[in-house]
Amino acid sequence: MAATIGTHEMDASVQCPACSASGLFHTWDVIDAGDASLKDRVLFDENLFFYTCPQCQSKIHIESKCLYIDRSKKMLIWHIPSPDEKITLDEVHQALGTTSFAEYTCRAALTWGEWREKIIECEGAYDDRLYEIIKYGAYQLLSKDDKERLPLDAYHIDYADDDHDPERLALIFMRKDEKGMAYVYPITEKLKDVTKDIFMPILNQISGDGQAQFERFGYAWASQFMTYLIKAAEADANRETYGNLIGFWIKTIGEEVFQTAVKPQA
Ligand SMILES: [Zn+2]
Repeated sequence: MAATIGTHEMDASVQCPACSASGLFHTWDVIDAGDASLKDRVLFDENLFFYTCPQCQSKIHIESKCLYIDRSKKMLIWHIPSPDEKITLDEVHQALGTTSFAEYTCRAALTWGEWREKIIECEGAYDDRLYEIIKYGAYQLLSKDDKERLPLDAYHIDYADDDHDPERLALIFMRKDEKGMAYVYPITEKLKDVTKDIFMPILNQISGDGQAQFERFGYAWASQFMTYLIKAAEADANRETYGNLIGFWIKTIGEEVFQTAVKPQA
């Protein structure tokens, strides 16, 4: 079989959960960012992965395995809806048309929302793992009431405005009580710099070559990373230095994101 390079379409069989009628959903298993209109749909068309049952007209969200390739920005980002699903290097080679992708940023995401967010994060020059650490840190500063009002599962990173500049992203807190309403907090250059200075040396230390492994660097990862770091800091002889750095970082988030002073915890 000849390898097909670029965007690749497929049909997935679907059984309607409402009326059991079967049908086909036309979708993609490879999306190439060179296809600008399709890339736009991945980022902005909320109906892209919805199937309408021909029998009963129910709308069903279909998540299927798909690889997003950006050859100019050197990104390979998998949408893998089932965490048990394995990907083989062969699949990547076939889709990419080459066996060498050492210089690519490789990532995986579980949901369409996470996938879209990862694409947006990886388009800019800033490390996506640092964005995830900022995202995690900012959510920790919310009060218990605010966490109820601004649920974690709808909280995400997106473009700061309609220019869709990948260097200007924002934290988006969606309101539970009013559909579509959100608080948008741009991530400032100062917060990016401080976060990079503090965490990049540690990320460099703990991640091996890091390439060619499709890992999920999301909120859960950031939470584990920070827990690990705080434990390591407590065991370290330089714990005060570490503690001070993390305290300084939290203070910076408070000032840069929420424009409020964060009181040190007792
Ligand atoms: Zn149906």
